[in-house]
Amino acid sequence: MAAVLLDGKVIAKRLKEAIKQEVAVLKSKRGRAPKLVAVEVGQNASSAVYVKAQKKAADSVGIEYELKVVPQETSQDEAENLIDGLNNDKSVSAIILQMPVPRGMDAKKLVNLISPEKDAEGMHPQNLGKILLGRYRIGPCTAMAVMELLESTKVNLYGKEAVIVGHSEIVGKPLSLMLLNKFATTTVCHIGTGERGALPGHVKRAEILIVAVGKAGIIKGDWIKDGAIVIDVGINKVGDKIVGDVEFAGASQKALCITQVPGGVGSITTTMLMRNTVELFKTQR
Ligand code: NAD
Repeated sequence: MAAVLLDGKVIAKRLKEAIKQEVAVLKSKRGRAPKLVAVEVGQNASSAVYVKAQKKAADSVGIEYELKVVPQETSQDEAENLIDGLNNDKSVSAIILQMPVPRGMDAKKLVNLISPEKDAEGMHPQNLGKILLGRYRIGPCTAMAVMELLESTKVNLYGKEAVIVGHSEIVGKPLSLMLLNKFATTTVCHIGTGERGALPGHVKRAEILIVAVGKAGIIKGDWIKDGAIVIDVGINKVGDKIVGDVEFAGASQKALCITQVPGGVGSITTTMLMRNTVELFKTQR
């Protein structure tokens, strides 16, 4: 039987509606809406797509959005001063640094300089630490989007065999903690697992499978456990098509629920940025 499709666009629409209502209430109480500022150092085509999507999402929920573009030649010190200024600007609720930054610039240092109270992407070590402690309201947008997708299935994660393939700081690692917080029995696979030839064994016993590798079709359809929930985070360009990391045709014959690429996780991540912005605004005086 074909799996139920987990439609990211439908979930994003529902989440945006809830955020919009919350923003309206906050605005009437505080006299102003949350404000998200995006910093772009030098203009480039790949971040232009994200910036456009962020502005559209912010407009749709009533969040104020400002794009600050500074020249390509901006020095590290100047960029740090800019972030410092935004940290101290009371009208700014949340800050995002657009990637990539020009070569030679220390992106990690700049991201860590964003105050944890204004950390729209939930990537500050202090905010990541809160996930470890199970006390978080914001988090890395992609990991949060995956948790929303899982929640939409209404599956009880308690004791479930969850397997994550990919251990990046923005997806796999925070997700492993989020799943542990829900008492899922969580396994994290990575390049070491793959090179040892151990990936099929782990994937085959996954009741919840989340894949974030960036290699088209690395997860074969016939590895999927019957009745599994499969979330494909991967984005890969194959010819003129965008595909995920999971062989969709085969996997969807075995899974209970599955996401598609595009139309799954990626459709929700920008909405999570808006939700982080609202959560940050709520904790600021
Ligand atoms: P990354 O590129 O930082 O790391 C890749 C991960 O895959 C690492 O943990 C690595 O160890 C693992 N890996 C590589 N080869 C492997 C193999 N043969 N077997 C097992 N594991 C292997 O990861 P990322 O930044 O999380 O990105 C992963 C994918 O998710 C990319 O395709 C990216 O474009 C996509 N992505 C999508 C969204 C979204 O919004 N949908 C957001 C972020 C990333």
